[in-house]
Amino acid sequence: GAMRHLPYFCRGEVVKGFGRGSKELGIPTANFSEQVVESFPPDISTGIYYGWACVGNGDVHKMVLSIGWNPFYKNIKKSVETHIIHTFKEDFYGEILSIVITGYIRPEKNFDSLDELISAIQEDIEEAKRQLDLPEHLKLKEDNFFHLPESKTVNNH
Ligand code: ADP
Ligand code: MG
Repeated sequence: GAMRHLPYFCRGEVVKGFGRGSKELGIPTANFSEQVVESFPPDISTGIYYGWACVGNGDVHKMVLSIGWNPFYKNIKKSVETHIIHTFKEDFYGEILSIVITGYIRPEKNFDSLDELISAIQEDIEEAKRQLDLPEHLKLKEDNFFHLPESKTVNNH
């Protein structure tokens, strides 16, 4: 369920999440709409993944992604949330987020404390950064998927 769909390419609008305070923890997660989540393979495992992400036609950055159970729908629907490993000047709700998921880190876990949750996420981020520097993952950063059609009309400058 986790690896056989990878690499997985996905593009969609960033919507308002359920305000679980990710940003307050220093790890904002850009949520995809329910419609985009529904387009994921139904048997893809919940858990923590990593890959590459780009907002609009901006730069491609490393990311960690969680596929989890959506509390809004009494945990019968999934949610897909991307934390981009980059500091943005502004929020980007309503923009198009393009991602490629290239690897899997671990299943979903419950934590006894906020501190444990935060340190687990920080470890996930470090693991993602290391893995994404390896050639098999690095090569997807340059994938044509990240070059939106509009950019083809721009001159070579
Ligand atoms: P929500 O519950 O609305 O998803 P979050 O606290 O998870 O709120 O914050 C997510 C929002 O923060 C994103 O939709 C995006 O607009 C903004 N954001 C800013 N920096 C990042 C980042 N590095 N990665 C993901 N989202 C970011
Ligand atoms: Mg979020």
